[in-house]
Amino acid sequence: MDAKLLEKYAKVITEVGLNLQEGQRLFIAAEMNTAPLVREVTAKAYQNGCPLVTVLWSDEKLKQIRHEFAPCDSFEEYATWIADGILENAKRGDAYLSITGLDPDLLAGYDPELIALELKTQAKHLKKAKQIISGNGVQWTVVCPPTPKWAGKIFPEISEEKAEEKLWDVMEKLCRLNYDDPVAVWRKHLSDLGKRHTYLTEKQFETLHFRGPGTDLKIGMPKNHLWKGGGGKTLGGVDFSANLPTEEVFSMPHREKVDGVVRSTKPLNYYGNLIENFSITFEKGRVVDFSAEKGEATLAKMIEADEGAKMLGEVALVPHHSPISESGLIFYNTLFDENAACHLALGSAYRSCVKGGTEMSENELAEAGVNDSLIHVDFMIGSGDIDVDGINADGSISPIMRSGEWAFTV
Ligand code: ZN
Ligand code: ZN
Repeated sequence: MDAKLLEKYAKVITEVGLNLQEGQRLFIAAEMNTAPLVREVTAKAYQNGCPLVTVLWSDEKLKQIRHEFAPCDSFEEYATWIADGILENAKRGDAYLSITGLDPDLLAGYDPELIALELKTQAKHLKKAKQIISGNGVQWTVVCPPTPKWAGKIFPEISEEKAEEKLWDVMEKLCRLNYDDPVAVWRKHLSDLGKRHTYLTEKQFETLHFRGPGTDLKIGMPKNHLWKGGGGKTLGGVDFSANLPTEEVFSMPHREKVDGVVRSTKPLNYYGNLIENFSITFEKGRVVDFSAEKGEATLAKMIEADEGAKMLGEVALVPHHSPISESGLIFYNTLFDENAACHLALGSAYRSCVKGGTEMSENELAEAGVNDSLIHVDFMIGSGDIDVDGINADGSISPIMRSGEWAFTV
């Protein structure tokens, strides 16, 4: 890929995504096939005075080899020093960058039960570290640069090599790298999203009502819920952006106040397995029924991961006309597909989405309606056909979205 493009991407990641502070160390978890970007980010970090960049490499081929050959009863094995190290770094305040590059079909055909167990084991060990990181104790960012297998999946009609080049061209627009000063463009975009979430937080809707083809869902919101999006802030007040690109504003449903049915509008790639055209029915917050045209077994495993996996942890609004949506592509990758459409997540909620949530005890969190789970899986429900209303405490209705676009001005 173009060296200049890679440099701009790395600049946006370090200056907008992570917003590395003076003297702050950086921890990077990365796939081996993203090495050129990892090196560029590392260079930028050191140039900006970062005292230490540490990289934990993973390799998608090794993941596959485990599922091919490892004993079936070995998927609760985990190298605990990895979790200890990530926790130690997070406690010290190191920024956290995840650079993923998985082949969307990596584990297609392997046992969904073992895939789920592997993920659950990993999540269990990483829970403490993730609480600090996703609780915004430090700046954290997830990015996903083009890789050959992934690009090949999006553009199956051309060679993987050509597909990767083409995906870089697409990425340039999606990540707003096609500007002279992408850092300034990003700051403006994040500030616009900030105005949207400020409006929604001030409104304190009691319920959100989603309507569209196959969807009629009411989502009760917790008292004192907070909408987030665009730039986040760490507990220490440092601006950052958890996802690049990001187009969403999001909050948390009350885990026991979700009723109705919702239909997916894009395929969900769950750790190398695709779940397509699925519907989920909720009663008092819990999944009571579901079906999928493809990948139903995977969906079942996901929902059975634990108690919290049967409830929602996120509700997010994305206008239908975002650059990602306008590309018209299906990315088979949550980071991009979730930013193309309104979405929900089964599993844990971000504690920072309720006032005082990061200081609450487990009991207080449950009381406040905050969902907890080892999983957090986004699935897309938005399209140009979706309408969203906010229902106020007095029963009056304020339109939030019409035909997939914002219905209020800020
Ligand atoms: Zn989201
Ligand atoms: Zn999410």
